[in-house]
Amino acid sequence: MLPAPFEYSAPETMDEALDLLDALGDESKVLAGGQSLIPLLKLRFASPAHLVDVNRVAELDFLDEHDGVLRIGPLFRHKAAERSGMLASKYAVIAEAARQVADPIVRNRGTVGGSLAHADPAGDWGSVMLALDAEFVLRSKRGSRTIRARDFFSGPFSSALKSNELLVEIRVPAADGRKGGSYLKLERKVGDFATVAVAVHLQMDDGKVKSAGIGLTAVGPQNLKADRAEAALKGRALDDATIKEAAALAAAAAEPKADNRGSVDYKRNVVRVFTERGLRRARERAQGGA
Ligand SMILES: Cc1cc2nc3c(=O)[nH]c(=O)nc-3n(C[C@H](O)[C@H](O)[C@H](O)COP(=O)(O)OP(=O)(O)OC[C@H]3O[C@@H](n4cnc5c(N)ncnc54)[C@H](O)[C@@H]3O)c2cc1C
Repeated sequence: MLPAPFEYSAPETMDEALDLLDALGDESKVLAGGQSLIPLLKLRFASPAHLVDVNRVAELDFLDEHDGVLRIGPLFRHKAAERSGMLASKYAVIAEAARQVADPIVRNRGTVGGSLAHADPAGDWGSVMLALDAEFVLRSKRGSRTIRARDFFSGPFSSALKSNELLVEIRVPAADGRKGGSYLKLERKVGDFATVAVAVHLQMDDGKVKSAGIGLTAVGPQNLKADRAEAALKGRALDDATIKEAAALAAAAAEPKADNRGSVDYKRNVVRVFTERGLRRARERAQGGA
């Protein structure tokens, strides 16, 4: 099917984009990589009157770490995340997720910000950002606000973003000291969305967990943060008993639905097994210093 007719603008600055979004309100949709939006337009699940293509807004495409914060621009593409040496050496959960998002064609165009704004509960980046305790900067013509990833997602394909707002920056507390992460994803075939995936990010101090983040993909109405599992790890040595306890708490936090990919019990068990494996892998990486 062809999309319904729409007007098209391609602003070159963020201010121009925000002016357009403010003037157009609910009639408009931001176009980033188009990997989720274009299929929706073609299926006529969405028929915005106006597309605001932000691909020429260079100030939305960056990766930068300073003053204790990793800053990711929303237009940063999945492929760029996959190729970044800095992310590979310091943020294993990001690097490992990046190479498992979709397939190389989608990764070339799709953006981290577009994926977060789309708020698909089976999207990979949402769980990664929950594990990293990221914050998102949302900007409209009227001002900026910062919201934690945990408060951003509100349900399937729903988020705190308003129609006149752009997601303009993703902020991750910089990884200091001994840290490690992992992203484990079960998919039916390479390039598929997750049946279940688990993101883990750990910071260790003197053999104990200084902080732990665990995000769950495709097992709830939105990406989920396994708060109780994270709290159970804090301040403790990562021995087998502690890992198993946290993995059981992560499994309990999952709210999967049965479908042709598996039963509720099966998916919950995958969360448990992946949390265990992810914590062990993250611990090894933290011991190695990366
Ligand atoms: C075949 C296929 C397989 C895929 N597999 C996976 C997978 O395994 N894992 C996964 O996580 N994803 C997967 N995806 C989705 C892919 O990652 C998309 O790139 C991503 O969901 C959307 O990013 P985008 O840049 O293409 O955004 P677009 O499609 O351009 O936009 C998506 C939505 O976000 C809004 N938006 C975009 N940028 C902003 C912004 N800066 N501020 C405010 N709103 C914004 C748009 O208005 C739109 O509503 C797959 C897609 C395809 C086509």
